[in-house]
Amino acid sequence: MGMDLELSEEQAAVRRLAREFVDREIVPHAAEWDRAESIDPAVVKSLGDLGFLGLTIPEEYGGSGGDHLAYCLVTEELGRGDSAVRGVLSVSLGLVAKSIAAWGSEEQKRRWLPRLCSGEALGCFGLTEPGTGSDAANLTTRARRDGGDWVVDGTKMFITNGTWADVVLLFARTGAEPGHKGVTAFLVPTDTPGLTRREIHGKLGLRGQATAELIFEGVRVPDDCRIGPEGKGFSVAMSALAKGRMSVAAGCVGIAQAALDAAVGYAREREQFGRSIAHHQLVQELVSDIAVDVDAARLLTWRVADHIDRGLPFATESSVAKLYASEAAVRAANNALQVFGGYGYIDEYPVGKLLRDARVMTLYEGTSQIHKLLIGRSLTGVSAF
Ligand code: FAD
Repeated sequence: MGMDLELSEEQAAVRRLAREFVDREIVPHAAEWDRAESIDPAVVKSLGDLGFLGLTIPEEYGGSGGDHLAYCLVTEELGRGDSAVRGVLSVSLGLVAKSIAAWGSEEQKRRWLPRLCSGEALGCFGLTEPGTGSDAANLTTRARRDGGDWVVDGTKMFITNGTWADVVLLFARTGAEPGHKGVTAFLVPTDTPGLTRREIHGKLGLRGQATAELIFEGVRVPDDCRIGPEGKGFSVAMSALAKGRMSVAAGCVGIAQAALDAAVGYAREREQFGRSIAHHQLVQELVSDIAVDVDAARLLTWRVADHIDRGLPFATESSVAKLYASEAAVRAANNALQVFGGYGYIDEYPVGKLLRDARVMTLYEGTSQIHKLLIGRSLTGVSAF
């Protein structure tokens, strides 16, 4: 069976709901949130009320069910409105709640999922460290056993939702083995003594989002905070990221779509040489290049959702979509800025923000170079890491 490009009634309805919400509640405020370096926290509650933070999570745990294509459609719409808002959902739902649903004990699911799905609580994903980014398997944050507890020491860097989150899905070294074998995952409430959080300011984009450094000094957690088997934490992280990359790709489709809408609108209105710039062939080249990127990125992203929903392998497809869509979003936003000329360079117009927000997409959840190595390994069977 191939992919059915028609949306089901439920998928179309959820997209309509997201589209209207984004146009009404996000688009009018995105520039102001960017300048203020914070989205309005009320928007998180709305994401919960609309059921968006519970997509794909079973209803018995407070989720709203739905398939991965519905999740992609909502993520795309949020990305079209404001990537800072999109990131809140991609991390709290995509990386944290979905990991709890997949790996958590019954008690962990009952404790965290209803609150994460309603937006009453937020999650963050603590993998990257100051010294280990792409080479995440060599992380150095350590958790050592002390009776029935674990005691954690180390620092996590660039953590999205870091200062807002109520729980961190933390990856720490518990074994003597080097690399991924010695890593275990934990769910650490962020009010645990010994955990301090420092917001990172001065980001190029995603300014409305709280990105933080998390410092663990003698943080004591009981063994029931461990999620997944001891030594299997890297599998928890990689399975989260394989699906998470689909969400980043969908957010990039949203950025590219916003770039297209803005560029076409401006090209029709702006006049130079006695007619709208839409009449100039090289401007048409710019908008058609954006349109091709939107379509290609969207189809690659939907393919990942289709594979996940049909139980097919999707990790390489997810890398392909994330690599392509993130590079496409940067290109699309840059082309849109060119259509706007000098006005694209000032923040009265939306395209400069789109470019700043797009840029990080080629860096996080695996840089473009890392995705090329993952795709290359899958094609050749040879690891070049
Ligand atoms: P490095 O790994 O040091 O890479 C530097 C350069 O070297 C890159 O160009 C890279 O592609 C290249 N490179 C490295 N190794 C190779 C190789 N083998 N072959 C070829 N090139 C290579 N992390 C989290 O855990 N949770 C989060 O919520 C989170 N949110 C983030 C939000 C923001 C805004 C940012 C900027 C980052 C976030 N990150 C998060 C971290 C992000 O995932 C890392 O920045 C990313 O993995 C890259 O790691 P690094 O920055 O240490 O770069």
